[in-house]
Amino acid sequence: MTPNVWSNIAADTEIEFCLATVDPNGAFTSGITRTQTSQTSFSIQTDNMKSSSSGGIDPWDQDDYLNIWVCDLSGGILGYATPPSTFNNPDDGVVIGYRYFGTLGTVQAPYNKGRTATHEVGHWLNLDHVWGNGGNCGSDNVNDTPTQEEENYSCPAFPHNANSCGTSNSAGDMFMNYMDYTNDACMNLFTIGQKTRMTAAINQYRPNLLNHNLCSNTPPVPSWNCLNGNCIDPLNGNGTYLRHQQLSGSLLLRSRHTTSL
Ligand SMILES: [Zn+2]
Repeated sequence: MTPNVWSNIAADTEIEFCLATVDPNGAFTSGITRTQTSQTSFSIQTDNMKSSSSGGIDPWDQDDYLNIWVCDLSGGILGYATPPSTFNNPDDGVVIGYRYFGTLGTVQAPYNKGRTATHEVGHWLNLDHVWGNGGNCGSDNVNDTPTQEEENYSCPAFPHNANSCGTSNSAGDMFMNYMDYTNDACMNLFTIGQKTRMTAAINQYRPNLLNHNLCSNTPPVPSWNCLNGNCIDPLNGNGTYLRHQQLSGSLLLRSRHTTSL
């Protein structure tokens, strides 16, 4: 639990994500795609999981969707993310090893409560690690997180490393912050300062996330665009279909079936 000394700065970030129900073509989706690959693993160095041409899968539009690639990630890391300043980058998104994603299936303790995604989405929304850039009591650009000398692992007892960075952090490290490296079960807060920084990142870099509802319970059904009998399939831009099928166009769309006149 969050120590009392920080309970007044533990934030409800009011940031929620939902699985997409509408894909980039306007079709229904579960928000999850599965890609078979011949790659035995993927790495942060190559980002191959982010491209169909290299055994991965291309992202959906990054200004509309948060893309999370779950894969066999080599290099001994749990996950990684791109900061929002690179959101026009085709690599924008979050990558997480399959052993550290979610709470079910192949997930492994002590990273089995979904906190790797919480941490990486924090990076995706411009948060730094609580020990700051470069370590050694560096700054994380957030005022209400205590200065901390370095990262923590496992789950320390509170207080931990009190005054290691001087008298300004007598309560010690905020090791239960989502932006530390402790076990999933040990993590339990973002601060109000971190909330402010994430909210600013959404407004500045990722405003499209606020401008649509791609996970509505009643997603729109895309319609065929027909002019003088020439019909364009909104799924691929060039389909045509028989006139007697026009009334069931939405069914055709979902099966992605097209026929020629
Ligand atoms: Zn990190």
